[in-house]
Amino acid sequence: LFDDFYFKSLIRTVEDWPKPGISFRDITPIFSNPKGMRMVVDAYVHRYIDSDITHIACIDARGFLIASVLAYELRKPLVLVRKKGKLPGKTISQAYDLEYGSAELEIQEDALHEGAQVLLFDDLIATGGTLVAAMSLLKQQGATIKEVAAIIDLPDLGGSAKIQEMDIPVFALCAFE
Ligand code: IMP
Repeated sequence: LFDDFYFKSLIRTVEDWPKPGISFRDITPIFSNPKGMRMVVDAYVHRYIDSDITHIACIDARGFLIASVLAYELRKPLVLVRKKGKLPGKTISQAYDLEYGSAELEIQEDALHEGAQVLLFDDLIATGGTLVAAMSLLKQQGATIKEVAAIIDLPDLGGSAKIQEMDIPVFALCAFE
């Protein structure tokens, strides 16, 4: 069962990283605690086992770690949304703004198809810029985004609200104000 107190103990806050003034939520203790890892994966398995999703898409790189186990458990194809320049062959890309500068995400041109019902996964939602860019790539391939899932939501940064305003449900295991 999902033990909220134990779960939150697996998220470590690192102050002033990667820059002064930032409180970075570090999820690596989840991966080093087999019980915590099972608890997190099981929470998503439980949520999606009877859903009609056809694919799980996930974002480079921490998003891969949970989503790949989830895809294995749910027997769904896994779609990788990667940082620019990592995927071979023909790709489509989407640029998005960061606090300073910009970044670009890519997926392979044949990753999805019209009618696909996708669960999109990343580790954390902050401003939502990363997820919205990924959503645009999935939609360009004709997919429908059934839900966005994350481990952590930072609601004060507005990302989850922005995604919900696009009529896409958002599911996170916890939030930090
Ligand atoms: P956004 O695009 O502003 O929503 O930022 C979310 C992206 O930045 C995700 O891909 C996260 O992996 C990463 N990120 C931002 N802040 C944190 C944090 O505190 N911990 C872990 N990842 C973070």
